[in-house]
Amino acid sequence: MNLEQLIRPNVRAMKPYASARDEFQGTAQVMLDANENSLGSVGPEAFNRYPDPLQRAVKAEIARLKQVQPAQIFLGNGSDEAIDLLLRLTCVPGQDSILILPPTYGMYEVAANLNDVAIERVPLTADFQLSEEAITKVLASSAKLIFLCSPNNPTGNLLHQDAVERILRGFGGLVVVDEAYIDFATARSWTTRLGEFANLVVLQTFSKAWGLAGLRLGMAFASPELIGYLNKIKPPYNISEATQQHALAGLRDQERFELMRQELLLGRDWLQAELPKLDVVAEVFPSDANFLLARFRPDATAVYEYLLSQGIVVRNRTTQPGCAGCLRLTVGTPAENQQLLAALQQYPR
Ligand SMILES: *Cc1c(COP(=O)(O)O)cnc(C)c1O
Repeated sequence: MNLEQLIRPNVRAMKPYASARDEFQGTAQVMLDANENSLGSVGPEAFNRYPDPLQRAVKAEIARLKQVQPAQIFLGNGSDEAIDLLLRLTCVPGQDSILILPPTYGMYEVAANLNDVAIERVPLTADFQLSEEAITKVLASSAKLIFLCSPNNPTGNLLHQDAVERILRGFGGLVVVDEAYIDFATARSWTTRLGEFANLVVLQTFSKAWGLAGLRLGMAFASPELIGYLNKIKPPYNISEATQQHALAGLRDQERFELMRQELLLGRDWLQAELPKLDVVAEVFPSDANFLLARFRPDATAVYEYLLSQGIVVRNRTTQPGCAGCLRLTVGTPAENQQLLAALQQYPR
């Protein structure tokens, strides 16, 4: 694959914005280059200086944790920013297309629509994997980008490794493996294979296992060359100083990360075992994520409304392809999981 050929001509040609912090790094005694307020900040904390546009301290920690090079990391305002930038990096509006495998995460479609990029859909099988026919279609496609969500949202399963590998070897565009839920999965991350595939982009996030959804911090891992292009087109200061500081503090709290992860996995296993005992539950799909997709009978939307009336909100996925009758249930605290189960046990039949 020639990466240059996948990059939009206008992006290749453009000169990026050079911020004050790009042109001068480090600290001077007198900093009068960025029109900041040298007197200080309103509020309790000092945020009067612009943040590091390349988030070097945060990336150094992530690089250590994930065993990658800092130059292989891009940080976005949530992975949703990375999704949008990857689209804008490769797809000419009104001309190019992306490939998605429904049922899957809704933001790929929204980002494509926003950017006037066409969407090719190759549906997953009834057990949410790629059929032989689907792989053939993917490999024949001239889409610029394919999104492989693994573990997949809303279904919870990992995509089979050999299918992903065949796409990495045979697809002509970028292969984006969205691993938002990888910390709950049994599989190794595809970040361990970045060296093998120049067209591989792996997305991860602080929003799920790290418990920092409110912070808005997402990661993209790829070749230094591709990361360079993402840096070229990103808003100069896309990650705030507050976010960078909180992320560093979070990364230092490995112990809490691991405790929460274990507790959520226990909760998932418990719900996985208990839910199928209910009359109203027809099927619970296997999950490598922090949620379960369950099929309800005879009327999932009635169950959804009932749970709402009990003060419990879950995600109604009944209109998604292959998800008829399905609700997506996030694993909560042990008390919340028990509350959910108790409510379902009392579902009027
Ligand atoms: C939750 C989720 C994300 C995370 O998005 P952020 O913008 O980082 O919060 C990304 N991809 C999938 C599939 C998700 O479910």
